[in-house]
Amino acid sequence: MDHHASRRDRLLRTIKDESLDGVLVTTPVNVTYLSGFSGDSSYLILSPAKTILVSDGRFTQQLAEECPGLETFIRKPAVTVAQAAAGVLHEIGLRAVGCESGHLTLAELQALADAAPAVSWKPGRDRVEQLRQVKDADEIAQIRAAIRSAERAFAMFRACLRGQDTEKELADAMEMYVRRAGGAATAFPPIVGIGDRSALPHAPLTNRRLDESSLVLVDWGASGRFYKSDLTRVLLTRNNCKDGPPALFEEVYTIVLEAQKRALAAVRPGVKAAEVDAVARAYLAQAGYGEQFNHSLGHGFGLVIHEGPFLKPGAETVLQPGMVVTLEPGVYLAGRFGVRIEDDVLVTPDGAEVLSSLPRDLAANIVDL
Ligand code: ZN
Ligand code: ZN
Repeated sequence: MDHHASRRDRLLRTIKDESLDGVLVTTPVNVTYLSGFSGDSSYLILSPAKTILVSDGRFTQQLAEECPGLETFIRKPAVTVAQAAAGVLHEIGLRAVGCESGHLTLAELQALADAAPAVSWKPGRDRVEQLRQVKDADEIAQIRAAIRSAERAFAMFRACLRGQDTEKELADAMEMYVRRAGGAATAFPPIVGIGDRSALPHAPLTNRRLDESSLVLVDWGASGRFYKSDLTRVLLTRNNCKDGPPALFEEVYTIVLEAQKRALAAVRPGVKAAEVDAVARAYLAQAGYGEQFNHSLGHGFGLVIHEGPFLKPGAETVLQPGMVVTLEPGVYLAGRFGVRIEDDVLVTPDGAEVLSSLPRDLAANIVDL
């Protein structure tokens, strides 16, 4: 059975207790997850007896290439996707149908209700998202490839730094390096924070130049055809701190790195997501920087860059083998600098495997311009 068919099977098993006749999947990324189809404007109807992708004429050939064997219904241009889906639901006799309340807009739901008055819609927030938290072998392979692309791109980025480069130019350059390194695109617009701009966890790009400071924080990722990666490093420029790293910077960097190491040691199946966050958070607090760690420790990623499980206070999700998360503790000193170190980690049956391999030690992150 192919990966998509086994994912559909898993979804049908999870809804067994819900007394549903089937599910209508409308979120493009969830349609992709369950079918391999990379287009949009298409709804997937799933039931124990039948799976049908409702799409339109633009995608006929693409569907044949991307999802061979999957039954499709190609609507005519005058028919809306809601009307077409309603027709198929009627045809195959589905009455109690799950829908995606986390994504479906009120207008989309209204269109479905108008087109299929006999269907009773059973909202569910994250039926497919729950499944997506645990990656199968095919997904892990694609994530590994996206990480490799991001790391190769970073090698080019590092090698090509020039003092006159601005944050904006460096982010633009990263977009190109990621593509040259085999990525389809960056996984999200790269964050480049020079000097005290690194203290903004999601710093908007400015025209600040690299030679105006001694450090730059870069948060970037690559996207393969479908799957993404997410990394952060802080680079010190030797030219602007000839006597070695400033003492406070070195202290903070060392503490953030230690927080990440401790969190990594806590990652294993059976541990709650909140417990991993708490390990890093408690260490940073004890080091005196609890207030300066102002975001969650990490997040899952895959088809989208932020998805469950979220490693944050209160997160009840229990880690399972196959989950892939970032570990990204940070300390941000407003007006001075910020340090975040972000790596990608796979939960394995007996612990964790760090999928990313760029060096983390400060000494390895000092560059000459
Ligand atoms: Zn990131
Ligand atoms: Zn991240």
